[in-house]
Amino acid sequence: MHELLRNFIDGEWVEAEGGRTLENRNPADAREVLGHVARSTKGDTKRAIDAAKRSFDAWRKVPAPKRGAMVLEAMRLMIERKEQLAKALTLEEGKTFVESLGEVQKSINVLEFMSGEGRRLNGTTIPSELPKTFAYTARAPLGVVGVVTPWNFPVCIPTWKIAPALIAGNTVVFKPATITPWTAKLVTEIFADAGIPKGVLNLVFGSGGEVGQTIIESTDIRALSFTGSNEIGAKLYETGARTLKKVQCEMGGKNPVIVLEDADLDLAATAIVQGAFGSTGQRCTATSRVVVSETVADQLVEKIAVLTKKIRVGNGMAPGVDMGPTVDEGQLNTVLAFHQIGREEGAKLICGGSRLTEGDLAHGYFTAPTVYDHVRPESRLAQEEVFGPVLSVIRVKNWPEALKVANGVKFGLSSSIFTRDVTRAMEYAEDVDTGMLHVNSATVGGESQMPFGGTKATGVGGREMGQTAIDFFSEWKTVYIDYTGSKRESKIY
Ligand code: NAP
Repeated sequence: MHELLRNFIDGEWVEAEGGRTLENRNPADAREVLGHVARSTKGDTKRAIDAAKRSFDAWRKVPAPKRGAMVLEAMRLMIERKEQLAKALTLEEGKTFVESLGEVQKSINVLEFMSGEGRRLNGTTIPSELPKTFAYTARAPLGVVGVVTPWNFPVCIPTWKIAPALIAGNTVVFKPATITPWTAKLVTEIFADAGIPKGVLNLVFGSGGEVGQTIIESTDIRALSFTGSNEIGAKLYETGARTLKKVQCEMGGKNPVIVLEDADLDLAATAIVQGAFGSTGQRCTATSRVVVSETVADQLVEKIAVLTKKIRVGNGMAPGVDMGPTVDEGQLNTVLAFHQIGREEGAKLICGGSRLTEGDLAHGYFTAPTVYDHVRPESRLAQEEVFGPVLSVIRVKNWPEALKVANGVKFGLSSSIFTRDVTRAMEYAEDVDTGMLHVNSATVGGESQMPFGGTKATGVGGREMGQTAIDFFSEWKTVYIDYTGSKRESKIY
């Protein structure tokens, strides 16, 4: 249980206007109310934006290495509070405790990497074509930036947006997903306790329609970093353009694993099952399509089925559980709707395919890990993001067809190939249209020092994590210093 979760505005934990609240419930047992959370208004959001605006000038003048030292302190605090954060994450989002510890560790890695960026906020010196002229570039912060995040990685995604935003010298208004507020509070508290001055990081709880919309429409907000669905991302991109904001949207995926006839099938099956059902399939990088050479398809499907049937589904806090529930009733219904679609489209059900309701599972949003075979590449099951534990196997005749099917969706986040043929692996790296790709490993995972993001309908506005995250959160200033001390002879163009 948690106390009433309040907004964090101008360094104070404050209730929403009118004391409005919402419930926070446990998806593994929907009878359990974890606590209540502020349901903010437009007015609350504007107060947060104003606080961030007032704090900007002082914050941008704090030397970047000092900003980095605060982010390093946030890392130390997150290490200290790792178990507390992981427990809150499992209780409100549903992933297993082991997965939650992994997510917190990844956030710690992000803080470690980003703290060093405070000492590497480099520009360049560039030779001028004019004599006695020194020219260089320097990074400058944007101003107040908005951070709007989804529920599926509610510790890591806010951390990988807020840390580079602060390092670059921006002040932040953070709106987390409505259904994962507890972790958002704990992450914000870590930054506050690490010494981030008042008003520099502000947290506003509330709906996308009210709080999120106020952020994107505000002319005081210079940039928005959003992760979530395509539907919402596309709208935000459009609205952001009207107020000439920089907008970064990381959105859905339909990530394929290509398995060629020479692949190590045991290795492939293990990686596919981990990628498809880890975090209940609720990862943007989750494996959702297997594109397999028809000569080895029967063998591969058999191996995948054996591993899938061994997955123990249950409350993520219980020891020995491999897969938790879907996050809420809406997400459960989406998954069940895709089972109906799969049946109607004539896909062959290999295992799973329904809600799980035995014993205590009846009180949560549990579905069985599911595999469909003989899925047609143009079908909805093969084209649309399910965002749940559902895997589709598509059989292909040859390598060109495999590549065509892998690329034949609107998304382009992650992908992988299993082959021992280095020529194929290199061709795949060159020709697959995804922002991240793996050879002989799962589609999931990303390291803090590497760019993260996708192509096509998955991503617009530049990559997250790595040094590229700083690119989004900063402007370039180009500086010319003339030290002739007198009138120029040469012409200036
Ligand atoms: P979502 O429904 O798009 O929500 C994302 C965030 O946007 C939430 O905070 C939501 O608030 C807010 N929002 C909703 N409507 C808004 C509006 N009109 N104006 C401003 N903000 C608004 O996505 P989700 O269901 O939370 O997350 C799942 C999606 O995220 C999947 O498609 C997944 O692939 C994607 N994802 C992508 C990546 C990546 O890096 N590519 C990573 C993780 C997840 P409420 O919670 O109040 O609705």
